[in-house]
Amino acid sequence: MKQLYQELILDHNKKPRNFHVMEDFDHESLGHNPLCGDKLVVYIKIGEGDTIEDVSFVGEGCAISKASASMMTTALKGKTIQEAKVIYTQFHEMSTGKLDIAEHPHQLGKLAIFAGVRDLPARVKCATLAWHTLDAALEGRKSITTE
Ligand code: ZN
Repeated sequence: MKQLYQELILDHNKKPRNFHVMEDFDHESLGHNPLCGDKLVVYIKIGEGDTIEDVSFVGEGCAISKASASMMTTALKGKTIQEAKVIYTQFHEMSTGKLDIAEHPHQLGKLAIFAGVRDLPARVKCATLAWHTLDAALEGRKSITTE
């Protein structure tokens, strides 16, 4: 698990997926994590049946924040907004230690590799920044700052 975590973080940090500005988005938001200096913009395009037709991001940040954002975009493309919110909640609860993914069924798939950040309090905000930003974008908030 630890090795897989390191490999995926390195890979997504080096080659972030869906890393570009979106021209005709429906939602966007700017997320900032002052604790670490991570800053990213998440763009969302909504398609038929409330599905996330496209999701992308740009920004600067540490490897964890960037890899998490990259993996979030690949995980959510094609999902409905409702499904995305379920995954968002599970990701957040896993990162903060409220959801034990070894004990409970979940829809996190590969995102489960971030479970270890619950033991690294300073990193929780890095791992969850993209998700908070996505949620803010869907709620129509132009920016969020983690505290
Ligand atoms: Zn960070």
